[in-house]
Amino acid sequence: MVLAQLGGSISRAIQQMSNATIIDEKALNECLNEITRALLQADVQFKLVKDMQTNIKKIVNLDDLAAGHNKRRIIQQAIFNELCKMLDPGKPSFTPKKGKTSVVMFVGLQGSGKTTTCTKYAYYHQKKGWKPALVCADTFRAGAFDQLKQNATKAKIPFYGSYMESDPVKIAEEGVERFKKENCDLIIVDTSGRHKQEAALFEEMRQVSEATKPDLVIFVMDSSIGQAAFDQAQAFKQSVSVGAVIITKMDGHARGGGALSAVAATKSPVIFIGTGEHMDEFEVFDVKPFVSRLLGMGDLSGFMDKIQEVVPMDQQPELLQMLSEGTFTLRIMYEQFQNLLKMGPIGQVFSMLPGFSSELMPKGREKESQAKIKRYMTMMDSMTNEELDSTNPKLMNESRVMRIARGCGRPIRDVMEMLDEYKRLAKVWSKMKGLKIPKKGEMSALSRNMNA
Ligand code: GDP
Repeated sequence: MVLAQLGGSISRAIQQMSNATIIDEKALNECLNEITRALLQADVQFKLVKDMQTNIKKIVNLDDLAAGHNKRRIIQQAIFNELCKMLDPGKPSFTPKKGKTSVVMFVGLQGSGKTTTCTKYAYYHQKKGWKPALVCADTFRAGAFDQLKQNATKAKIPFYGSYMESDPVKIAEEGVERFKKENCDLIIVDTSGRHKQEAALFEEMRQVSEATKPDLVIFVMDSSIGQAAFDQAQAFKQSVSVGAVIITKMDGHARGGGALSAVAATKSPVIFIGTGEHMDEFEVFDVKPFVSRLLGMGDLSGFMDKIQEVVPMDQQPELLQMLSEGTFTLRIMYEQFQNLLKMGPIGQVFSMLPGFSSELMPKGREKESQAKIKRYMTMMDSMTNEELDSTNPKLMNESRVMRIARGCGRPIRDVMEMLDEYKRLAKVWSKMKGLKIPKKGEMSALSRNMNA
């Protein structure tokens, strides 16, 4: 989960407010101050934060809310809406279509993650059945072609470049021509970036653009610059017709929120975010599901997409069936733990569910999390079938807990911790009750509906 720290602080502030006996002006102010602090720490521009605070206060008029109104929900909804407004970057100028040739040119400063992102973008589409190809028109940075070649080879994506030719325009032109002849539907041109926004860089971008006539220019930027992203995005926008933006390194930087909101403020549409060095650490950026996850409210559309992507086809119906029933037994937890350990990526699936992965498998602490999961499984090995299949929370009485602790040789408090984890996950799972199971081919339609 990206920006976990910011999301955690905001959800905690809302939670604390909900715990107050009466939600009055004071409780609301405290909550909003906490959120303000968290956003400023993430380097979001002061004016944006101030506006958000004012708007929420305008919308949530505590005096007008009749008794019985769920104030917490209303406030949470107002915060959700305002965050969406703050981060909403609008739509890209062009969206490539599968089966129709599109040329997409990538621009950005050196080190922003441009070359890596080109391959991620190609790989993302390839997995969805596209025929992408990569052209390396970066003749400025030594090693750029090798890097692209290596990544492309790993992902089995055709590529074009040259060690000898020093004219980026010529390479770009030749590469695009070749892949058009080969009927590739997504031709991605990686251009060179320099250290600074300088005239030579912008001139080269213009020339490559003129030669290749891209349908879409994607500007790649590093999130660690925080709100300085505003000026950078503006400068690139003024030099080439940037149609979409990808923000990288959202995994490692507390300032990611600042970068996202700053880019949104320039009305440059962010379409993807990079969340790690690996090829598949790349996410579609869609503002509502993103904010939903940020606030720990889950992202059901992302969840359905991920199930399709990472759960083997033959296991998808079973998993969905169990989810739709909403019943979560200890045996289901055991089996999902087995999946987590065996398949790794299923962790990505559960990160889309509220409460699942961020606490159970925090990013960067995978080893510890795996040890914890194995420990829980050892305890469950000492349970009877009745206990594993029960849906009665009262069944696990003191004497059963003591017996399990003895059986697995662990202290009683460890068994209690495991049962608490079970209760927490069961609560999350129960939210999926009533999930309509899609027939073949209906998955994406369903995910759209769920998010509406
Ligand atoms: P370029 O000079 O803009 O082409 O940048 P590169 O693609 O060579 O990337 C520069 C560095 O950033 C490399 O070490 C990449 O692995 C790394 N990088 C790129 N995207 C991400 C990301 O989303 N997260 C993290 N953590 N690292 C990234």
